[in-house]
Amino acid sequence: MELRGSGIGSGIAAGVVLRMPEPLAPASDAPRTADAETEKGLVGEALGNVATWLSQRGGAVGGEAQAVLEAQALMARDPEVAADISTRIDAGANAERAVSEAFASFAQILEGMGGYMAERAADLVDIAQRVIADLRGVPAPGVPESDAPFILVAHDLAPADTALLDFAKVHALVTRDGGPTSHTAILARAKSIPAIVGVAGADDIANGSLIVVDAGASTVTVDASPEQVAAALARRDELLNHASSPLTAGALADGHPVPLLANLGAPEEAAAALALGAEGVGLFRTEFMFLDSPAAPSIDAQQAKYTELLAAFPGKKVVVRCLDAGADKPLRFLNHTHEDNPALGRRGLRALRANENILRDQLTTLANAQAVTDAELWVMAPMVADHDETAYFVGLAKELGIRVAGVMAEVPSLALVADQVVEATDFVSIGTNDLTQYTLAADRTLGSVASYQDPWHPAVLRLIKMLGDAGAAAGTPVGVCGEAAADPDLAIVLVGLGATSLSMAPSALADVRAALLTVTLDEAQARAARALTGRSAAESRLLGSR
Ligand code: PEP
Ligand code: MG
Repeated sequence: MELRGSGIGSGIAAGVVLRMPEPLAPASDAPRTADAETEKGLVGEALGNVATWLSQRGGAVGGEAQAVLEAQALMARDPEVAADISTRIDAGANAERAVSEAFASFAQILEGMGGYMAERAADLVDIAQRVIADLRGVPAPGVPESDAPFILVAHDLAPADTALLDFAKVHALVTRDGGPTSHTAILARAKSIPAIVGVAGADDIANGSLIVVDAGASTVTVDASPEQVAAALARRDELLNHASSPLTAGALADGHPVPLLANLGAPEEAAAALALGAEGVGLFRTEFMFLDSPAAPSIDAQQAKYTELLAAFPGKKVVVRCLDAGADKPLRFLNHTHEDNPALGRRGLRALRANENILRDQLTTLANAQAVTDAELWVMAPMVADHDETAYFVGLAKELGIRVAGVMAEVPSLALVADQVVEATDFVSIGTNDLTQYTLAADRTLGSVASYQDPWHPAVLRLIKMLGDAGAAAGTPVGVCGEAAADPDLAIVLVGLGATSLSMAPSALADVRAALLTVTLDEAQARAARALTGRSAAESRLLGSR
């Protein structure tokens, strides 16, 4: 059986499927049916199973993770927890409810303690879920773990889930939901693993089946034959052996410079980006480091991360984005209220402005890191709508010691008043993922509208041109840091529309570098002009790719 979706990158993988377990239904409220001693016996056994599993898993993975898992195993064996569960069962609760309530009450105590202890509260909730899953005889929720390599199949992955994945083991990702710019796709690019998102039939792929994922062809072959697997692996090796061009600075054929920068989500990713020839960082997504944090990160915790990042790029440009919380990247300390339409809600700069103390702390910490390193730090705000918000952010950043402050162009309104915005900012960085989502009114996380999420759409290209023209007129740099910059043909068009730098997942740098070297600035502008006349994304792609 062959399934199709949106392929991310051009990689190929073959392997055994491990499905992301379904979330557990809440613990039942039904009164206890068995006698208290029987229920207590079942819970005791489940707690023991979970503790043993956690210890064994710790032993298998070793390192820092072992300490965390051992600590969790100890919590599962804690006699105080067991006594609390027994009391609740004696009072009439069924086993599941007693487990859920007992762990929740201990988690609440830890949360009240703040700091490190509060961060452990989530571990208790995780253990309760594992115990309840064991009682029900179903797989534990959360990211699957395995000692052998596997291909992960899921409905979709939240950024917090992906942070827990062991990418030495996950050889490819297949998701039912998500479009080409969903955060699953971004992560797959960052980790250089093949992925196919928005695969309508992904729910029918069984655990344990053998599949081939061909991201270049956007296909998933389910129950692949040995011949299909062998052919896929041969093609994969061919791709890997493809000689990469020398790591020169980004430029067009006529020498027109186009700095090629990296999109990063953690300082640890810096070395790999440099090895692939990144000339700096064009987008550092700070929120990725704090997805699990119950409370705003302390100045010390932030300072260490930013200093480590900047120190990896001496003399080079590093563009750091302030926390972009909301939509599919909620941060508990910035997004407090439920929103039916969070992508249209209080996200990005809107959330930061409503919590200005958190924004001030972040800017102050960045200014401190700037003072102790040699990198050229630029700082920008996400989801900026107009001149007023631009002036607010740039003014605050400068007040707190940031030397170069700018805004992301992700909301169409910003592009429509680009002439006003470029007067109030040091630079603009175009986030084509959100700019496309908001221009085409198509949720970037929804597989069913993934075909709208195409930055080749002439409406998106026209907005980019408005930004490029305004930037050129005012002498304000206008970079692109959305996934569009990773498409070699589109990268040429973006430069033709006025992009002064391109930032992308490091794995895309080589292909974009090679593509830029094939055209002069005149040719890039001619391609851009042709692409603007398309009547659909497909037509613009056709017109702009030659
Ligand atoms: C974008 O929207 O294009 C962007 C770069 O930001 P993110 O993908 O993190 O929303
Ligand atoms: Mg964005």
